[in-house]
Amino acid sequence: MENIELKTENNQAKPAQNNKRTQLKGLTLEELKNYFGKTGKPRFRGEQLFNWMYNHLAVDYDEMSNIPKVLRNELRDITEIVTLSYFDSVVSPENGTKKYIFETNDKHKIESVLIPETDRTTLCVSTQVGCPLDCKFCATGLMGYKKNLSAGEIFDQYLLAAKDYGADKITNLVYMGMGEPMLNFNATLKSLQIFAQELTTGISLKKITVSTAGIPQKIRELADSHLKVKLAFSLHSCFEDIRSKLMPINDKYSLKDNINAVKYYARRTATRITFEYVMLKDINDREEDIDALSRLCGEIPCKINIIPFNSLKHMQPTGFSAELETSPMDRIDEFAQRLRDKNITVMLRNTQGEDIAAACGQLAIKY
Ligand code: SF4
Repeated sequence: MENIELKTENNQAKPAQNNKRTQLKGLTLEELKNYFGKTGKPRFRGEQLFNWMYNHLAVDYDEMSNIPKVLRNELRDITEIVTLSYFDSVVSPENGTKKYIFETNDKHKIESVLIPETDRTTLCVSTQVGCPLDCKFCATGLMGYKKNLSAGEIFDQYLLAAKDYGADKITNLVYMGMGEPMLNFNATLKSLQIFAQELTTGISLKKITVSTAGIPQKIRELADSHLKVKLAFSLHSCFEDIRSKLMPINDKYSLKDNINAVKYYARRTATRITFEYVMLKDINDREEDIDALSRLCGEIPCKINIIPFNSLKHMQPTGFSAELETSPMDRIDEFAQRLRDKNITVMLRNTQGEDIAAACGQLAIKY
């Protein structure tokens, strides 16, 4: 996996792509205040802009009634506050899951998925266009990597979905869409810092989960950030060789190193880890997998999210990916029950959104 770069972006306001205007969406409260301070304007204008962009979902300066018109016109000429536009959406007739396709200003498409359930509505956001990690059970992995999203592009997925669906109705956020958040760490962190800001009336950090395939040093950095979001770790096998076959990143960052980092995260944040476990027939649904999982769960405060494998047929997979099959439903139920019998918390996630290729592991844009 030598070709995996830990791409990061700097945290300063920078010119929006394709023009000379500075992109303000994605800046934190402090950065916005600094932006105005540096241009000789009152720093509180940064707070006003923050409120308009992130709380009132404003997409045009004309909406910002407490900012003088002269300043609004000036800002319109030299800055930008929108990073994504709505491109398309599809709603599952079966359960109301809604897949959004958004377009970045530089014309990349990304997907976000809104999942209404009885007790919550979760938005799943992307952090990259595509993904370089090539997990064999994942459509995003099959589409390859195009680029990292900016903090603004990550946050705008929430804002556009909130505008469409109602901000008060979206209760939870998961960083589990296209891409590996830890490979776009600075932008991921900044988007979380915007949610963390006292002024932001959006989702509380306790309702945000960041999912990772496992980059140990970034898991530790997230733990040290004091943001205390929930961490989901894509486990899928407790055995190094099987995990490497399913997730090539495991050759670079071993399960052993990741488990140590995950333990550190649980200790440092006093939160419970979620282990994601996609059920694959005859690969990770065996008796020895139950034993290994229960040993692991004895070492870490955690719960296990069991996910039936979702078809990748829409991506016409080849090689090992084409051989993968979901475990039969009765085996999945038995597997979950056997773990529960060992006092392990197990959630059995349904395949919500499979009919619209919006379920776990199915997100991909065909280029
Ligand atoms: S499962 Fe996550 S990390 Fe793996 S290829 Fe898919 S998007 Fe990337």
